[in-house]
Amino acid sequence: MKELTVGIVGIQGDVEEHKRSLEHAFRDMDLNGNIRWIRSPKELVSIDGLIIPGGESTVISNILSSRQMFQPIKDLINKGLPVLGTCAGLIILAKKNYDKVVGEKEQPKLGVMNVTVERNFFGRQKESFEAELEIQKLGNKKFKGVFIRAPSIIEVGSDVQILSKLNDLAVAVQEGNIIGTTFHPELICDIRLHKYFLTTIISNQ
Ligand code: GLN
Repeated sequence: MKELTVGIVGIQGDVEEHKRSLEHAFRDMDLNGNIRWIRSPKELVSIDGLIIPGGESTVISNILSSRQMFQPIKDLINKGLPVLGTCAGLIILAKKNYDKVVGEKEQPKLGVMNVTVERNFFGRQKESFEAELEIQKLGNKKFKGVFIRAPSIIEVGSDVQILSKLNDLAVAVQEGNIIGTTFHPELICDIRLHKYFLTTIISNQ
């Protein structure tokens, strides 16, 4: 199999944690994988998949916008590039994002996934929590979801598959080549979600 290059938007947030999880998943799947930090449009050339980490979506999106990275990323995703967005990453992928305090947010976004998310749905930092999730695609063993100032997915388009729910709220979704989670799979040792993402990249080759 050819080498895989997975880009991680390396602007702000838990970028190192995604790198560690990906490296672990590469080893586990016996893949010849490279990781590339994506901080400018030219680094997007020839990547096979892209991760947009959690962190602060306003910061990440303002910097992506000022570096003129939205359009090239959007073009790649529309052509089928597999992408995983976690927490703030999902907010940036969503068609619409909403905030109880300020209403619909005008922050720049990719807007490629047919979901509406509400930022900081569960409250502030101190309301962060963990929950055992059922994610059938990852097998029977529960998956620990780490929710940190997490958004909620409040509307899901008909073409979007719900991979996991918590108390009736979708917390992991997939629309073709786009996967989004409201929690942080990169903050735990369980790499099953990263492995699942890598299988979507492999089947896209
Ligand atoms: N609340 C953050 C935001 O709206 C996301 C938090 C996270 O990624 N852990 O950008």
